[in-house]
Amino acid sequence: MASVAADLVVVGGGLAGMAAAIRAAEQGLKPLVIEQGSDAAYLCNSRITIGVFQVALHDMLGSADSLVKAIDAATHNYVAADLRDAYAAGAEPALRWLFSLGIRTISGGHATRSLATLAPPVPRQPGLHWQGRAGDVMLRTLTAKLEALGGSLRRGLRARELIIENGRCVGVVASAGEETHRLEARGVVIADGGFQANDDLLRRFVSKHPERLLQRNARTGRGDGLMMAEAAGAALTDMECFYGHVQSRDAMKNPSLWPYPTMDFPISAGLAVDASGKRFTDEGLAGVSVANAMARLDDPLGCVAIFDSAIWDASAKTYVMSANPFLTQSGGTAHRANTVAEAATLAGVPGEAVAQTVKQYNEAVAAGTLSSLDPPRSADTGHPWGSKAMPIATAPFYAVPLCAGITYTMGGVAVDPSARVLHKSGAPIGGLYAAGAAIGGLEGGPVVGYSGGLAKALVFGKIAGESAARDIKGA
Ligand SMILES: Cc1cc2nc3c(=O)[nH]c(=O)nc-3n(C[C@H](O)[C@H](O)[C@H](O)COP(=O)(O)OP(=O)(O)OC[C@H]3O[C@@H](n4cnc5c(N)ncnc54)[C@H](O)[C@@H]3O)c2cc1C
Repeated sequence: MASVAADLVVVGGGLAGMAAAIRAAEQGLKPLVIEQGSDAAYLCNSRITIGVFQVALHDMLGSADSLVKAIDAATHNYVAADLRDAYAAGAEPALRWLFSLGIRTISGGHATRSLATLAPPVPRQPGLHWQGRAGDVMLRTLTAKLEALGGSLRRGLRARELIIENGRCVGVVASAGEETHRLEARGVVIADGGFQANDDLLRRFVSKHPERLLQRNARTGRGDGLMMAEAAGAALTDMECFYGHVQSRDAMKNPSLWPYPTMDFPISAGLAVDASGKRFTDEGLAGVSVANAMARLDDPLGCVAIFDSAIWDASAKTYVMSANPFLTQSGGTAHRANTVAEAATLAGVPGEAVAQTVKQYNEAVAAGTLSSLDPPRSADTGHPWGSKAMPIATAPFYAVPLCAGITYTMGGVAVDPSARVLHKSGAPIGGLYAAGAAIGGLEGGPVVGYSGGLAKALVFGKIAGESAARDIKGA
């Protein structure tokens, strides 16, 4: 077993890991990033990202107060105040620091508002197009910066186990093919990107049928960090929720149908029904919440979006690579018929049951009693990724088979505002930090509030690097 010493070992070369390592190097440490991918352009969510920097869909350069309010509104006050405040206060300095490292953004890009979006932006085409764009350029720039500061990135090394001595993390055991490496360090940052690509962990926390979820991600987040931390006694938090979108069921087989278009907008203006033809969640909470509700069903692949041509011509045209026209242009199925029952039957759900569901819904829209439906339905949450409830009344009617796309898991190891991993006892585990999609505590809750993937990686990656440098230099 080879032994390598570094000041700080960072597990994962996505945005969170690179931010932690660069910040630590700026403060005088010699960090080593280990990355399981062996290609120069190893895949990860940070590389294939669309690249919109936002906190709860708000501008990271806005005031900390405005971001506190945005996080509270998105999560219905779910996030603990100390973590929320650290996130909100750290957003603007972190984004300005990223700019100082040579990362360029444009205003707007794929967002509906003028949010900082990585340049050059990914093209407005269905399917993934990351090469030479957005996250790919960002990671290449950050790697060069890390090396210029005396840090290093070693590809093809997969972390397997934390080395814990006297309750403190003093390194990592990693594998490279058949070889095992013992990497001794004075601190370790877990930044492995979440557990969305680990079916066993998904089955344990998220869905009875993980194989019936769309992997709307790079498939590199396998929960290694979570399992290593759990074995070391770390507390886990918010494990049930994920960030993702509702997609055409055809996306399970057709890569042109993810990450966009999503079906979020037509659903939040109309309805989603399960395999029995009944509603199962509040569609007004928008796509991230609906995708989570779908994943919890006995059959996550049994759901169908139901709406009419007025919605198809309005809400379905909203947002980047909108469902209308990209769903059908990219080969996705949209059943159309002159009655709701016919359209539903074509989509494989019981027509009469769906017609009855739509009748009750239309009556509630007209009477203003949507909140009395079972389950209750919001009329208009004002969610940036949602629409107000509309009647389903204008032929032709649409039925679109759906799947739930999982981008990253929102839950993970519990951390304090200094990104120190917390033991189940509530005390920090010495020498152990975590950032990005590997951590929980910043999003989720009953309405599955989303507070930002890139922002969470950047802000807490930077905090982790600063904390590690402070602790290691002060030791
Ligand atoms: C299609 C798509 C679009 C997105 N668009 C946006 C957007 O516009 N805005 C936004 O805010 N968020 C967006 N996100 C989410 C955002 O990109 C991620 O949340 C963020 O990049 C996560 O960064 P990370 O560093 O935590 O994880 P990652 O970028 O996934 O990096 C983790 C790294 O750890 C490595 N790793 C894993 N296990 C090990 C191990 N055992 N040993 C060593 N290495 C390991 C992985 O290979 C990977 O390289 C998008 C995601 C996707 C997939």
